[in-house]
Amino acid sequence: MKVSESVKEHTVFLNPDEIPTSWYNILPDLPAPPDPYLDPGDMKPVNPQKMLRLFAQELVMQEISTERYIKIPDEVLDAYLRLPRPTPLVRAKRLEAFLKTPAQIYYKCEYLSPAGSHKPNTAIAQAYYNMKQGTERVVTETGAGQWGSSLAMSSALFGLKCRVYMVRISYKQKPGRRVMMETYGAEVLPSPSNNTKFGRSLVEKDPEHHGSLGIAITEAVEDTLTDEKTRYCLGSVLNHVLTHQSIVGLEAKKQFEMIDVYPDVICGCIGGGSNFAGFAYPFMTDKLKGKTNTDFVACEPRAVPSTTKGIYTYDFGDSGEMTPLVRMYTLGHKYAAPPIHSGGLRYHGKAPSLCLLINKGYMRSVAYHQNEVFEAAKTLAQTEGLITAPETAHNVKYAIDEALRCKQTGEKKVIAFNMCGHGLLDLQAYDDFLNHKLQDWEPTEINVPTYVK
Ligand SMILES: *Cc1c(COP(=O)(O)O)cnc(C)c1O
Repeated sequence: MKVSESVKEHTVFLNPDEIPTSWYNILPDLPAPPDPYLDPGDMKPVNPQKMLRLFAQELVMQEISTERYIKIPDEVLDAYLRLPRPTPLVRAKRLEAFLKTPAQIYYKCEYLSPAGSHKPNTAIAQAYYNMKQGTERVVTETGAGQWGSSLAMSSALFGLKCRVYMVRISYKQKPGRRVMMETYGAEVLPSPSNNTKFGRSLVEKDPEHHGSLGIAITEAVEDTLTDEKTRYCLGSVLNHVLTHQSIVGLEAKKQFEMIDVYPDVICGCIGGGSNFAGFAYPFMTDKLKGKTNTDFVACEPRAVPSTTKGIYTYDFGDSGEMTPLVRMYTLGHKYAAPPIHSGGLRYHGKAPSLCLLINKGYMRSVAYHQNEVFEAAKTLAQTEGLITAPETAHNVKYAIDEALRCKQTGEKKVIAFNMCGHGLLDLQAYDDFLNHKLQDWEPTEINVPTYVK
């Protein structure tokens, strides 16, 4: 017996053989050439050769590539299919009915991966290219653990050793993702650790130092530089990461074509910018060519208002000042970790291409307090049945608000977003919300140093 059309309507699946076989790289299509990364030593563009000691060669090439499409290696496609990909595109019919909106709401199901988020889309590619060139160990840092668990999983798939510097306060307070990483066979060190010079200098002064993402990055980079067979991996911000995430938007574009729909609004949450860019850029390419007027909306926490209150300038990518200078919207690389539950949205800056598109007016951004964000997540849970990651809840909030505006105006807009993670390891945050313990907070002052006039 066949499922009737009305039941199937608008949950769109792609067959395995319809998976896109190339990633989309937006660099050649940007409205202005991207600003180069600068070496803080001489303020000249960074020599890609210098990056080879840190990153796998293929990733360095992709970082600066001006090829619009980059072929996905068969081994990576095979791993994607087993996540599994392609992921469904779902119409949130119950949420629409609850809101009594004439708008249509669609979401892409990236929360279905074993790691629970979109991050394996790049972790798999990074592990693969490292394995291919003979790297024995990959090293990275992680805050709450979403990135660390994705890289640990991908390292297991390609037979690499994996070492993760995990911010000590999360290591102690959020054991769930540490256990995931260890189960995948990764070595997880609370940062600051005794394993690096920089870590030791901090632990000597305070054995219970809480750590920060900036400290963990500094440790991971130092560790990488001490061993020739080790390379470093980064989970967001860089061009090659955004390119790998384009698999999400390329699939979604095919799925929308199958039902003859084109989104009017595409919204997403931005931590470093990779999941939103990955979903949005295959549609943004049409806007850059003047073919659509789709409204692109980046959603961030009011506690980390990089693109709504930050400054568009050159800044360090990390608080330890080990990275090159990158032109982006930033709150300053010393921005203190804000007291919010969305661990993935705490980064002070955002991906350079995304910032350029916001700066040129092709995208806009909005910011929310965490209580209103969790309220939206509760509505989603009670209508669609899904407990979303606190990060994702930011764009759920925007989608709901937009759908309610449509109710006022009678507009039948199509709203689309990436359901980039589930919240099953964030239940403490939900508990705090339900018990009215969440504080709304925003910075009163933002200090961004100027490096380039
Ligand atoms: C890491 C993470 C983010 C933030 O990173 P982006 O690079 O901006 O995507 C957002 N949502 C989830 C679920 C994450 O795990």
